[in-house]
Amino acid sequence: MVVIAAITATLGDQLPASSSSTASSSSPVAPPIHVLRREHRGALGEADGAVPDGATVLDDEIPGVANLDADLLGALRRAATDAADDGVEFVVDSGWRSPAYQEHLLDAAVSEYGSEEEAARWVATPNTSAHVSGDAVDIGPSDASAWLSEHGADYGLCQIYSNEPWHYELRPDAGDHGCPPEYADPTHDPRMEQ
Ligand SMILES: [Zn+2]
Repeated sequence: MVVIAAITATLGDQLPASSSSTASSSSPVAPPIHVLRREHRGALGEADGAVPDGATVLDDEIPGVANLDADLLGALRRAATDAADDGVEFVVDSGWRSPAYQEHLLDAAVSEYGSEEEAARWVATPNTSAHVSGDAVDIGPSDASAWLSEHGADYGLCQIYSNEPWHYELRPDAGDHGCPPEYADPTHDPRMEQ
């Protein structure tokens, strides 16, 4: 129970204050991918996309960083450089993932949440995940995601899902037009319907 309490406490820190107003608020508190990833990191290694604690967008030797789309990585590095001037450091919590690693995360989420339907609100399949294609990154800690929420569009970096304030993808038009509207969660993303 101590472990569960600690995980819940960590989770509480990471959930945005504004996330409680949706229909999902009746669901039990659901650990975000951060918690799942930490719990299950040992099963698959860095070659599959597991990222060590404290990884940055400059860590070329880490496959989870190096295998990100080059344009996404370039935008992240420009943003991280400017954020550093504001005293904010980007940490890569997750980036590129192998299909096997994504499947492992999905399996873990299904057992964690109790159903494939609930797991789908947080973890995509290997066929649909933007992490597997190298087009998505999870950035922490919360001050970094807050910085991106304010400034990310200037770099084409957009939050995609309202329930995942750490998950960013490249939307090159965002600099001119702003980021597109967020989906409430991945189940509302047409890319997930495969
Ligand atoms: Zn993500």
